[in-house]
Amino acid sequence: MVALSLVRRAKSRLAAGVAGSGTSAAVWQIGDIQVELRRSARRRTLGLQVKEGRATAHAPASMSETKIRAFLELKRDWLTRHVRSQQATSAVQRGVHLGDSWQFLGETLLLQADSAAKKPYRLVGTLYLPPQNWQKHLQAWVSREVLPLYTELVTSYAEQLGARAKLGKVRVSATRSRWGSCTATGDIRLHWALSRAPLEVLRYVALHEAAHLLELNHSPRYWAHVKRIMPEHANYRAWLRQHGRELLLEE
Ligand SMILES: [Zn+2]
Repeated sequence: MVALSLVRRAKSRLAAGVAGSGTSAAVWQIGDIQVELRRSARRRTLGLQVKEGRATAHAPASMSETKIRAFLELKRDWLTRHVRSQQATSAVQRGVHLGDSWQFLGETLLLQADSAAKKPYRLVGTLYLPPQNWQKHLQAWVSREVLPLYTELVTSYAEQLGARAKLGKVRVSATRSRWGSCTATGDIRLHWALSRAPLEVLRYVALHEAAHLLELNHSPRYWAHVKRIMPEHANYRAWLRQHGRELLLEE
């Protein structure tokens, strides 16, 4: 964690006028860095902090935007340097940050913080997330949004395989160990993070599990069903072996 503070004595007329106001937050763009601005009535100084690749400015509730912006612009090089270097080192462990792009069912979304939001919401190509525990919010949002397509894919493959009658419920899973599963009663689960993979890879996993409705094993008979529908399936298995771990969000 790196913190930079600028001490500033609150002006008495302002300090007297803002009693009772709570905390508020907004996100500002300084150069190509996003800075979350947090205002608080109790705060007397303007401070700037960079933690885990994210910048936060803490300001007194009454301080003018012009003053805050001037301070941030003055510190722009410092900000950029610290945010970039922290992102570079944390990229290995965490991979994804607010402000990054996010693959979702073949589309590219931009992940943005919205500190006023209680839940994630999507506006065209941007997914806004509450910055606190944003990974958990993201995972919950994805898990909810992918269910219709996952269900449609599995159902369609079950139909093509002549196994529609054996299909139970389709669900979204979050296990660390497998991309999909199929039970003896025909319930199929597909991992939420498959929505980050190329669509062909997602389709392959949907087919892989649907084919287990016919054969609950990986025998040559099982693979013959898969091959019949998707002759190039080996490419997608190879992709998953090589890139699968990258799809998961590290805690
Ligand atoms: Zn299998």
